[in-house]
Amino acid sequence: MNLEKYKQLLFQKMKEQMKVWFEDKQEETVSNEDVYRFLHSIKGTSGTLHLVGLHQLSDELMNQIEEKDEKNWSILELRNFLYDLITLSYEYEHLHNIDVPFTDMKNEDSPLIQLIDDDVSMLILLKDALEAKGWMVMANTEPLKAIEQYFDMHPDCLIIDVNLPTKSGFQLLEDIQNHNKKQFIPKMMISIRDDRETRLNAYIKGADDFIEKPIDIEEFVIRVERQLDRKAIFDQSVLMDELTQVYNRRFMDDLLQRNLTDFNRTKTPFAVAILDLDHFKKVNDTYGHLVGDKVLAEFAQFLKNHTRSSDTVFRYGGEEFVVLFPRTSDVEAKDTLSRLLEKFAEIEFEENHQTFSVTFSGGVFMVQEPETTRSAALKAADQALYQAKENGRARIESANIIPITAPMKRLNVSIIDDDPIIRTMLVKMVESMEFDRYELDAKTFEDGLKFFESGRTDEIGEHFLILDGIMPVMDGTEVLQRLKQSKNASRFQIVMLTGRKSEYDIARALKLGADDYVTKPFSIKELQARIQRLIQRMS
Ligand code: GH3
Ligand code: MG
Ligand code: MG
Repeated sequence: MNLEKYKQLLFQKMKEQMKVWFEDKQEETVSNEDVYRFLHSIKGTSGTLHLVGLHQLSDELMNQIEEKDEKNWSILELRNFLYDLITLSYEYEHLHNIDVPFTDMKNEDSPLIQLIDDDVSMLILLKDALEAKGWMVMANTEPLKAIEQYFDMHPDCLIIDVNLPTKSGFQLLEDIQNHNKKQFIPKMMISIRDDRETRLNAYIKGADDFIEKPIDIEEFVIRVERQLDRKAIFDQSVLMDELTQVYNRRFMDDLLQRNLTDFNRTKTPFAVAILDLDHFKKVNDTYGHLVGDKVLAEFAQFLKNHTRSSDTVFRYGGEEFVVLFPRTSDVEAKDTLSRLLEKFAEIEFEENHQTFSVTFSGGVFMVQEPETTRSAALKAADQALYQAKENGRARIESANIIPITAPMKRLNVSIIDDDPIIRTMLVKMVESMEFDRYELDAKTFEDGLKFFESGRTDEIGEHFLILDGIMPVMDGTEVLQRLKQSKNASRFQIVMLTGRKSEYDIARALKLGADDYVTKPFSIKELQARIQRLIQRMS
């Protein structure tokens, strides 16, 4: 007998129940009797259908609760309780008999590779091969989008196809190279053409390696690995940020830790500040990334020149800097920085006969309690920074003086998928993640219409969207198209869930602005690592 049909019915039934409990939420609680009955029926059916794992798990869960208990389950409690069961049923439904290479991301620090190729089947193939090594890959088909992502995400290695549609791969490489002459990011060119001229051109334009198509995948992966190793050695050995000529984040971690340890001994308070340029995206958009780079470098030098020699300036991230003020109170640090702000705002930058000025906002925190941790100190300064942004920018706030009234930066994670199992699984996964710099708001939507009707796109904060590609009511690509028109479009990071073989869908998704795609069925762990990584890079 073919059990397949009955299995599908079982999964269907589970899905309907998930939807009633976790999403329609007509009741605030679920009676213990309902839960018990549900598990009982899953256990019976799954046993019959030889779904051994599901059978055992539902049995175990049943043993954990009492049939006669009068208890009522809160929605959240119930979702946590059933989480393993939901995950397992997803795996049964999608992964059985499917040969999916499962490699967990080594960790959050696994390298990030940016791959730019307009040949989608090649893109998919290479991305799969690289991800099988546990690396994270951002794939782009559009050069302009690629440049944006490059500056937003700071990848560890670039792989560029020579023949791109709107901009040639060489042009793209040259742009990036101009913007980042001083940064060491290995760049590899791939090309269908292997003539001498193309090769020489690639190396002249700054490529570290050149690979011709057709590509020997095994060799390709090894050559990428070599570049990643070089990058890792480089990162390990430098303490300076090349672009801005101030210390980098790695050195900041060391020095901040040393200051904290000293504080426990000397009890002399010190201040740490985080500074962030205001509306810096606009500078990039208006004058180009090259000018943006200049502003960054000048800002860093300005800070260095106008602080005491005992103070230290670090580049913390893209356009964010940290200053450590030893033996300084938050009030003093705030005063110093406010004076610097006034002075910096007077500087006129010139580009194409236009002049513009730039301001920054800052958050200060004075360490005065023993046992303050590095992350607690940075988080406090960051909260003050956020408050300064909220209060209108171009100002400095102190986390010690004003009570922080503004909440943390909001991160809206929206999950649009017509499958309730996936929705339940993903929302739980997202809620279990920790984000240092964000307050999380996760919501699920069963189709694109409901998503847009809810006004979700207008909510303040950053947005992260996990979007199913194929849905009955409003297709994923339609959602992307509509989203593009929303005024908050640039605040969205989008991961598209697509079918494994649907090259066409992947091509469309990337063309319409998706930042990444994940093929269904996916491993939860891998998706989690990836999302965590993308969000980490966002902040
Ligand atoms: P806000 O006032 O809220 O800080 O607005 P913003 O536009 O400065 O904030 P956001 O953090 O959204 O934008 C930061 C931008 O900095 C986005 C990113 O492309 C850019 N960026 C990051 N690193 C670099 C870099 O090395 N060079 C250049 N030119 N731009 C960079
Ligand atoms: Mg920023
Ligand atoms: Mg900024």
